[in-house]
Formats: sequence, structure tokens, C-alpha cells
Amino acid sequence: MALVNMRDMLGHAYHNGYAVGGFDLVSLDFLEAIIAAGEAQRAPLILSLAESHFDYYDFELATVAAELAAKRASIPVAIHLDHGASFDSAVKAINLGCNGVMVDASHQAFEDNVALTKKIVSMAHACGVPVEGELGYVAGVEGEDAEKHPGEVIYTSVDEAKTYVEQTGVDLLAVSIGTVHGRMKGEPVLDFERLQKINEALNIPLVIHGGTGLSDQQFHQLIENGVAKINYYTALADAAGNKMRENVSRDDRCGYTGIVDGIQDAMRAEIERCMVNWGSAGQADAVLAVAEAWQPVHHVIIFNVENCDDAQASNMMQQGEKLLSRVPGVRRVLTGNAVQTDAKYKFTWLVEFVHENVIESYRNHPAHVTFADNMFRPVAGDRISIDFRQN
Ligand SMILES: [Zn+2]
Repeated sequence: MALVNMRDMLGHAYHNGYAVGGFDLVSLDFLEAIIAAGEAQRAPLILSLAESHFDYYDFELATVAAELAAKRASIPVAIHLDHGASFDSAVKAINLGCNGVMVDASHQAFEDNVALTKKIVSMAHACGVPVEGELGYVAGVEGEDAEKHPGEVIYTSVDEAKTYVEQTGVDLLAVSIGTVHGRMKGEPVLDFERLQKINEALNIPLVIHGGTGLSDQQFHQLIENGVAKINYYTALADAAGNKMRENVSRDDRCGYTGIVDGIQDAMRAEIERCMVNWGSAGQADAVLAVAEAWQPVHHVIIFNVENCDDAQASNMMQQGEKLLSRVPGVRRVLTGNAVQTDAKYKFTWLVEFVHENVIESYRNHPAHVTFADNMFRPVAGDRISIDFRQN
């Protein structure tokens, strides 16, 4: 079980002068390659799921696979929603198991970006989940040629960054200092002076999007100036694509498994190269020693009903499942009836929270308050409820 709190992981990276890779995955091949690279290099890592990629895979299925891979890993892993577009996307991601979320409202006016980010931070922190904001605009689209998306790069201003972080409470900030998403023609020119000033003003881990194509030296300079998370996708997609073209050119009749043969190794080599260059290689045990283990809490209620028959009780529980599963930080809601007819308690609720913080935010959430006061407590006076931390 090496799913850990991303805030602690990146705090360690920030204070110890290295950067963790946020590797976007679009298939199981990516997921396996990223984890294998991390295990080989003993590197902490972030499994990143970008909303802009959700046309290519089923987000819900991908989070299940990412979570299992993280739990099986012996290295510290976090699961992050990359470029979340709305409040609802952030809630959905957290309830599906992401323990970090990014708000991407950087294309909106400053005040609107602040308002949306602040709302998401307040919800996410109530679930124990750290938030990455973005200020300035990193042009382009993950995995595509930058010249296809010629939007202006808007550099992050130092003063705005300070105000933005103070007003929103984000835990980390993606800055725009000259990188672009996707592939870039020629050598990118980065504004390190600006980055240094942002870092001095904020003192929180900074994030770079559009890492593909930067030189080793440029990465070192980014990290020296506060970058603790580097988003990385295009180079992995290209490594896989090159291998697939090579397979097809060798045998143009090969089927699916023939085409993808060896792409994990090709991606893994590139990921390991990054981990060594960014300094995250060898940091796994140090991170495990300081990072909070990311463990769910199970909210269990056993109860009997009065003044209502079994059909009414079952209807009440069905409605509760529907209402409560949408509360931020609720992974799942299960209800049940006792198998033994003479059981002391006849009914149960099992509500899984993503984090201990949700005990309180769930209790105070309007959907829970309404349901508990109007539908549940009036009939379930005889009950026992306990919150269990999973061992
Ligand atoms: Zn990005």
C-alpha cells in the first residue's frame, strides 16, 4: 500500500531539491511502464489522468487500474486529475480515487480563475486532497504539435501569482514561463528570472507543464528555482509511437499485440531517464518516511427502524445511496439487510470516505444534513455508528 498524500510527497521534493514526474497515462501500457520505471529507480511518482484525454479511455476504469497499481507498488504513488475543467470534474475525480486535483481555469479572467479555484480548494481540502492551480497560460494540447495550437503563451506574473495563491489557498502552482504543451520546434526559451521571483514570493512547490523537449540543464535550472512536479506525456507517447511504427515496418501484417510489442520498454527507458535527471530516483524511502499514507475511512452504521415497514426502509436506503454517493469525498455507499433473521440489528450502511477529513465535511454537507434529519434519523433511533480507519 504505497498510495500517499501528494502534498507531503511534493513538499519533500520541494525542500530537498528534486522534482517528481507527473506522468500522464492513456492506456495500461503507460500505467505499467510508469510503475515499472518507478520501482526500478526507487522513485516517487504521480499517475496523472488528463481530462483532455478522456475521449481516449474510460476515466472510471482507468482510476480503478491506477489505484490498484498504486496500492501494489512499493514506491510512493499519488493519483492526480490533470487539467480538471470544472468543480464537478474535481468532485468526480476525488470520489473515483484521485488524491490530487488540478483546476485549469487559467484561460479565464483572473477573478474567475480565483473564484473557481477557491471553490474547488475548499471542497478538496475538506476531503484531504491537495490542489494544483494554474496561472498564466501554457499553450498547446498534450501530445500534439505545438504549432497546431498557436495560442499565445501568457507568462505568469509574480504579483498575480502571489494574490492568486493567497486568495485561493492552492497547494501547488503550475506556472507559465515559456514551455508549451506537446511538441515544440526548436529550443524553448525559458524565463528563469521570472521563475526565481515567483518561487521567492510564493514558497510553495511549482509545477511545469510541457516538459517534453527541454534539455537536462534546463530541467536542473527549473528544479533549482522551485519546480517540484514536472508533467510529462508527449515524449512517452512519441516513444510508444516510434516503437509501433518500427514494429509495423518490420511486419506490416502484424496484429494488435504485434504492433504494441515493446512499447512499455521504450516508455520505461524514457521515464527512468527523467527520474535520474530530475533527482527523484532513489527518494522513495525518504518520501515514505514522511508522507501520510492515503487510507480510506469506513463510516459504518448498524440500525433498526421504527414507525416504518421494510419496504419503506428499503426505499429510504435507496434514496440515501443516491444522494450521499454524490457528496465530495464519498467513494461508495452500500446498504444491506442482516442475513440472520434474529440479528440484533437488521440494517446497515457502509459509507467509504477517501480520507479522515471527510468525516466532518460529510456530516456538515447539505445533502447529508437533509437526508439525515428528514429521512433517516426519524425512523432509525436505534443505531450504532463508528468510523473505522482501514489498517
Ligand atoms: Zn498540462
